[in-house]
Amino acid sequence: MNTPAALSPADTASSRLAAVQDRIRQACAAAGRAPASVSLLAVSKTWEASRVLELALLGQHAFGENYLQEALAKIAACEAAGSSPIEWHFIGPIQSNKTRPIAEHFHWVHSVEREKIAVRLSEQRPAGSQPLQVCVQVNVSGEESKSGCEPTEALPLALAVARLPGLQLRGLMTIPEPSDDVGLQRSRFAALRQLFEGIQRALNAQGIDANCFDTLSMGMSDDLEAAVAEGATLVRVGTALFGRRPTSVTPSPVVRPLT
Ligand SMILES: *Cc1c(COP(=O)(O)O)cnc(C)c1O
Repeated sequence: MNTPAALSPADTASSRLAAVQDRIRQACAAAGRAPASVSLLAVSKTWEASRVLELALLGQHAFGENYLQEALAKIAACEAAGSSPIEWHFIGPIQSNKTRPIAEHFHWVHSVEREKIAVRLSEQRPAGSQPLQVCVQVNVSGEESKSGCEPTEALPLALAVARLPGLQLRGLMTIPEPSDDVGLQRSRFAALRQLFEGIQRALNAQGIDANCFDTLSMGMSDDLEAAVAEGATLVRVGTALFGRRPTSVTPSPVVRPLT
């Protein structure tokens, strides 16, 4: 029987989720790791709440957001829709005047790169809530990237986070420069893992309980295999789950009069 092209295997939320889960499983198998050692964070920035709800119904429970206003509206919409409990992760740059709603509405923050932000998040975490789960974001790409603290600043920042009562230090996060070179991808992820291991030793040496320091947040749609090969415990995937994001609207350039 003829199958019209339009009815060929559907590109649905369910098929995309299964494909990403399969990539993670295969990357784990290739690295000799247990598939359950890597969790999937669905990065839903720019997508509507209905797309989050669709994946939540399929069993995906952790979602990552970058833009605060958009995220707050989406969190409220998902709650109003009566979805199963969703774990919300803030993964975008943090301005200090935006820390309060982040401390109030998120379970995790992956993008702490300054002590001042950590202190505010801790102070503003509502009493009675679980501590905010925090990863320190590190720039392992040198000049090629601007977000994240320097590798040399990661240990002091991690120690500062570990001492704050409203926060639970969970690990490190990085966004390397985009590259098709798998060797380069792996070297960046390996650098984060080595830093992670050094911090783990330092925490133990200082008598700080390092049991919860268990998260290497690295790998996205285009490089998750390299990240899993180097020890990622959480991959942050947007495009491969939701499709290509609408290209962001860039503000029109300022035109200066010629003088
Ligand atoms: C957008 C984003 C992602 C997801 O990237 P994809 O390439 O779409 O998978 C992951 N992490 C962070 C911090 C992001 O901003």
